[in-house]
Amino acid sequence: MPAITNHMPTAELQALDAAHHMHPFSTQADLAKRGVRIITSSKGCFLKDSEGEEILDAMAGLWCVNVGYGREELVEAAARQMRELPYYNTFFMTSHIPAIALAAKLAELAPGDLNHVFFAGSGSEANDTNIRLVRTYWAEKGQPERKKIIARWNGYHGSSMGSGSLGGMVGIHSQGGLPIPDIHHIGQPHWWAEGGEMMPDEFGLMRARELEEMILELGPENVGAFIAEPVQGAGGVIVAPDSYWPEIQRIVDKYGILLIADEVICGFGRTGNWFGSQTLNIRPHIMTIAKGLSSGYQPIGGSIVCDEVAAVIGATEFNHGYTYSGHPVAAAVALENLRILEEEKIVDRVREETGPYLKEKFESLTEHPMVGEAKIVGMMGSIALTPHKESRAKFAAEAGTVGYMVRERCFANNLIMRHVYDRMIISPPLVISKSEIDLLIERAWKSLDEGMANVKDAGLWASA
Ligand SMILES: *Cc1c(COP(=O)(O)O)cnc(C)c1O
Repeated sequence: MPAITNHMPTAELQALDAAHHMHPFSTQADLAKRGVRIITSSKGCFLKDSEGEEILDAMAGLWCVNVGYGREELVEAAARQMRELPYYNTFFMTSHIPAIALAAKLAELAPGDLNHVFFAGSGSEANDTNIRLVRTYWAEKGQPERKKIIARWNGYHGSSMGSGSLGGMVGIHSQGGLPIPDIHHIGQPHWWAEGGEMMPDEFGLMRARELEEMILELGPENVGAFIAEPVQGAGGVIVAPDSYWPEIQRIVDKYGILLIADEVICGFGRTGNWFGSQTLNIRPHIMTIAKGLSSGYQPIGGSIVCDEVAAVIGATEFNHGYTYSGHPVAAAVALENLRILEEEKIVDRVREETGPYLKEKFESLTEHPMVGEAKIVGMMGSIALTPHKESRAKFAAEAGTVGYMVRERCFANNLIMRHVYDRMIISPPLVISKSEIDLLIERAWKSLDEGMANVKDAGLWASA
């Protein structure tokens, strides 16, 4: 077999990819026909593909490359750690400096008494850990029946058996026998799509109160926790109405259940604070972290746990862990990533400077005839595509058809902007500059124009 390098023609790479590489969340047969785009290198907010095109990555990879591509410090941190200690476990009465330093740093950054970290290799693994943490916590407290966990439809918490069950994605539930028992879902606070005639705050309260209704239906003595993303990411960057989170916090407090904030996207500056829980003023007992923790340079995730839960779990043997929990290279890179975020004041810049600039520009997209609303918190935003703004109408075509057509134009215009059904979403690197934001908006506008023309040509400009 010949060496596979960047210099191989794109078509050959595509053929090998189609023959042997099974892609996540993809229809393999379609992909093989279409041919994948092959990304070869990166710098700052830009990717380069095998045809030499320069692409503005308004998704920061998969919501994770917070400090941007090409950071030599992270390369150095990995190389240094690999030379010194490439691997050692933390299972059997041993520890190592990167895991110790990263746990201590996370305890310092996390709000309140979230002072203890259980490491995992990803967000999915960390949420699986959370299920076992919550159920073990209540069992140790003498309330083993409190094993039910409430989550939300259209939430995303990963795609393993446990985390995929916590998530509320019907496409995931429909394959492989999910959800696992004792996971229950309530509605999402997605006013644009589901709010009907209600005012946003009225709808937000209604959706929050579904948590109380579910707790009462299941019996408060049987409920262990509620899990949610502060801002839903993969579900389409859904920002809850202002009334929602205070009511959720009231209900969680009233029934004494644990609150798990899934900060996998919201954490590490994405919302303009270190954690989305701070932006939304909520007090979780456990936070799930991954993605921006290492800016995606190494696979690492974890659970940050409050004093009380850690004390109860700590009094027994917790029969859980991953070979790569606290992996020294991943931990060293994460630690260096946090140093960059802190020393370059990247989170402050998102909150005070580039975030507000992006918000203003992004919201101006609502002047486009196909854009109904724009929602943005810090550096995660979404726009709703609609054939009729006033009635918030959906397109008559199958949900996602129009979104896909606009995304296809984005791709052609060298802008990575994803679609979730007929919502377009962005989550750029936190280091994006004002001129790069201008370029993002320019390419988005052009793609919307072209997408809309294609929608009309295809006879799809019609309300459901
Ligand atoms: C991506 C994501 C996960 C899963 O993380 P993986 O590292 O892909 O397993 C969990 N929760 C949220 C909110 C995510 O966005």
